[in-house]
This record gives sequence, C-alpha cells and structure tokens, in this order.
Amino acid sequence: MRIGVIAIQGNVEEHVDSLRAALKQAQIEADIIKIKHAGLVPSCDAIIIPGGESTTLGRFMEREGMAGEIRIAARSGIPIMGTCAGLVLLARNGDEQVEKTNQALLGLMDISINRNAFGRQKDSFESLIGFKGFEEPFRALFIRAPCITDHGKEVEILSIYNGVIVAARQKNLLALAFHPELTDDPRIHHYFLKMIG
Ligand code: GLN
Repeated sequence: MRIGVIAIQGNVEEHVDSLRAALKQAQIEADIIKIKHAGLVPSCDAIIIPGGESTTLGRFMEREGMAGEIRIAARSGIPIMGTCAGLVLLARNGDEQVEKTNQALLGLMDISINRNAFGRQKDSFESLIGFKGFEEPFRALFIRAPCITDHGKEVEILSIYNGVIVAARQKNLLALAFHPELTDDPRIHHYFLKMIG
C-alpha cells in the first residue's frame, strides 16, 4: 500500500509521523510518499492534503497538474483526507472571500465552507470535541480553522463544535477543520486507515 501526503507546505512531516505511528499500531505495511509534483498521485492508494494556506496550496496544485490527478483519484474512490486548508480545498463551494479572490478549489465534496470561521481573536485554540464513532472526546487543535456551513445529502456529519460542523465525510472523502496530526491521539488517522480498507 502507498499513501501520498501533498507536500507543498504546511504540516507535512507531522502527518507522515502520525500516519507512520498509526500504521505501526495497526500492523499495516505501507509506503508513505511526499508529493511535490504531478505523476505520483495516480500510484497512491490514499492521499492526505494537509493544512497550510489554501490559496497557495490550491494554486500550486492546479499549476503543477496535481489538482487534476487528485480529482481523478477521488472519483475513482481513492480515500482522501483534507485537514484545515485541505478541507477548504475539498469543498465545492467557498465563501465570499473565496469567490472574490477566485480561489481554485478541488470541488469534490458537496459542502460549502467558511475559510476563516473562527475569527482572529481565536486564531488558535484547543477543545475536546465529540466525533461520531469515538467513545471518548477528541482533543482537537484549531488553527485559523474553517468550518462547513452547508452540505448535501450524501455528506455524513462527524463532528460539531459550538454549533458548527468541523468534520464530515462523503464516501471516500474526509474533511476536518482541525489538525489531528498535531496532537498525540491517533484515532483520526486510524479512522482514515479503515477507509482505505
Ligand atoms: N483558513 C486557512 C486557509 O483557508 C487554513 C488554515 C490552516 O490550514 N491552518 O488557508
């Protein structure tokens, strides 16, 4: 098995480390590759799009041809996890800011998002959140986090914080507003591994 982490910017190493730890616990053999250019996505069984700056990430992925490859992979059922900026990019509909700046989204999930939902004062914070299927709450780290403001029927809501949706799944696509790679709890990475099967 081969899992690709989009490695343009953001928390790439942290995702690689979390994934490696989860794979070891689950006793699954897999290669983890960092993807910086086109040509590698089609060889992957799963893809992670980390946090960072969604404008930069989106533009780079379009320019380098990775965006098109990710769209094809997603449509063929390859599991994709987007965290924070990755959630923004998975969305079909952006907010006013996204529209105004003509920001390139992958447009894969039937969700609308608010890019910087949690405002300036609370740029970064931690909270215990419920997550569908988890017995214990998950300690989630939010950094200039987006949220999901609307969604289609195929979207399963996995977590709500303060009345807004912060995690959701649509078949093979998993979107998280927070950063599971920046805390020690491996449960989200295990959840993603189960999606790969
Ligand atoms: N809100 C940021 C954006 O849209 C994402 C922040 C993050 O990934 N930590 O780019």
